[in-house]
Amino acid sequence: PTPPAMPDALPDVALNPNAKIVLAKRYYRKGPDGTPQEDARALFWRIAGAIAAEEGKYKKSPYKADALAREFYDLMTGWKFLPNSPTLMNAGTDLGQLSACFVLPVGDSIEEIFDAVKHAAMIHKSGGGTGFSFSRLRPKEARVGSTGGVASGPVSFLRIFNTATEQIKQGGTRRGANMGILRIDHPDIIEFIRAKERDGEFNNFNLSVGLTEAFMKAVEADEEYDLVAPHTGQVRERLKARKVFEMLVQKAWESGDPGIVFLDRINRDNPTPKQGEIESTNPCGEQPLLPYEACNLGSINLSAFFVPGTATVPTTKDGGLPHPSPEKAIDWAELKRVIHLGVRFLDNVIDASRFPLERITETVHRNRKIGLGVMGWADLLYQLGIPYDSQEAIGLGERMMQFVQDEGRAASKVLAKERGPFPAFAESTFAERDMGPYRNATVTTIAPTGTLSIIAGCSSGIEPLFALCFSRNVMDGERLVEVNPHFEAALRDTGSHSKKLMEAVAEKGSIQAMDHLPEDLRRVYVTAMDIAPVWHLRMQAAFQKYTDNAVSKTVNLPNSASIDDIRAIYWMAYEQGCKGVTVYRDGCKAVQVLCTGEGE
Ligand code: ADP
Repeated sequence: PTPPAMPDALPDVALNPNAKIVLAKRYYRKGPDGTPQEDARALFWRIAGAIAAEEGKYKKSPYKADALAREFYDLMTGWKFLPNSPTLMNAGTDLGQLSACFVLPVGDSIEEIFDAVKHAAMIHKSGGGTGFSFSRLRPKEARVGSTGGVASGPVSFLRIFNTATEQIKQGGTRRGANMGILRIDHPDIIEFIRAKERDGEFNNFNLSVGLTEAFMKAVEADEEYDLVAPHTGQVRERLKARKVFEMLVQKAWESGDPGIVFLDRINRDNPTPKQGEIESTNPCGEQPLLPYEACNLGSINLSAFFVPGTATVPTTKDGGLPHPSPEKAIDWAELKRVIHLGVRFLDNVIDASRFPLERITETVHRNRKIGLGVMGWADLLYQLGIPYDSQEAIGLGERMMQFVQDEGRAASKVLAKERGPFPAFAESTFAERDMGPYRNATVTTIAPTGTLSIIAGCSSGIEPLFALCFSRNVMDGERLVEVNPHFEAALRDTGSHSKKLMEAVAEKGSIQAMDHLPEDLRRVYVTAMDIAPVWHLRMQAAFQKYTDNAVSKTVNLPNSASIDDIRAIYWMAYEQGCKGVTVYRDGCKAVQVLCTGEGE
């Protein structure tokens, strides 16, 4: 479809300083000599036009493509909603690959393994990230039929994927990111758990162990469990579940890797079990997918829906600043409008996207998964004056995400009426439960929004801020000093603002030890390290409750955190219904997989 022409009167885009750098470096289309061929207006119109143009083929649509393009443009440039990076980079271009998340199968043969390496390379070139389960590979030293030799096992093949990723700089955009998963009952699980012991090993991979209910029960009961060779189904060995779990906790304490995902829980929520089991997620863990499935994500900036100047209500027992009632201080009607437009946008992205493999196109078109999520949550809490680590914030988080989920599903129903349900709907669990019809097998996902949050100028995903004031390295050594705007405004309001104070905050990041600042101010302006780990997890669980897919969240722990702390977090994640968990102990040796616009 031909995108609508750019209107003359299209308003200009107000970019924050970081967005200027990030967009120029990675997102503007470049000419053969590398000079940018577009500005922010052209970029956002290119996207809005390409995505709105898909509307034309749906005869029952209430929108004309040019009017819808303008709505999409305003949505994005008002920093209310942004689609994931590949859509920003590639919509309306020849490449046209718009999804951030893919999962590829890895079969138990040399051909299948190298097919997966090749397909991953093609996806990385287009800006997407890949997840793999290595659980089907026969274990190390198992016999290989054709040669009479012995197999080298999942971890050695993992190295090939890692090296291939290293070599492919993504078409000048970004280096690839991967998720590698191995089931807890694979005979090579110990080697896998220890894979990142050496610093820098498998640095293009996040690793997660796939935990099962049976294993968790065995840990609870202090029993042994079976390690099963996937190619023969034979029990190879029995291990004490607690011993393996302890090792997992120990390694996560040392390096942050491996994380854990609860496979049975993910499959319990699999809307299309007739198409097979979900074995893996995308690189950052928020999007479980079937083999050959891809998903495009989009994020709503919650802080853009704050309505200033409403009357305040008294502080609750949780502490914090006297604050406006969320009922009035959040523009729920506008949020609803944006959710509906966002779902339409993401469903159109599926049609507009050109995938590197026919198999992927087929799978994606069958289930039409989308992942609408949120960012700017910590900023909104600052604006409201509610401490992140409070019951009030947890309650509001649940309510917020329930709203996104309910309206998102309602929007998907509207689309099903206009366009028909997703083709596999009849065989989905929705049909069995007499729900729907829906246009999309999943609607909600909470992404990390590593780059999107920089472009929108808000806090990322549902994460608390890392620091209230810091200087940031934005690609190629450019440095920017940044103060959280809500914090700065609050300092001015309470008459505490001074240059000296800002310098002190920049050095420390946190204000918790600054006794001379008002106590309620300190209570609200908490940062990741000020927040006790259990509150990180409670927040993740609150949002997970109303998210179809999963929630990207890191539970930050101080360097002094013990192995017991990590074990408690893992166990809590299990008990509170999370789909997985990632911990990061400050200063531990991990090199995080690059998922943000920062650094290289
Ligand atoms: P963004 O803000 O750039 O849209 P996110 O930080 O929200 O991206 O990450 C969303 C998903 O995008 C990740 O889980 C992963 O699947 C993919 N992704 C992120 N960074 C990269 C990367 N450097 N290379 C490939 N895929 C990536």
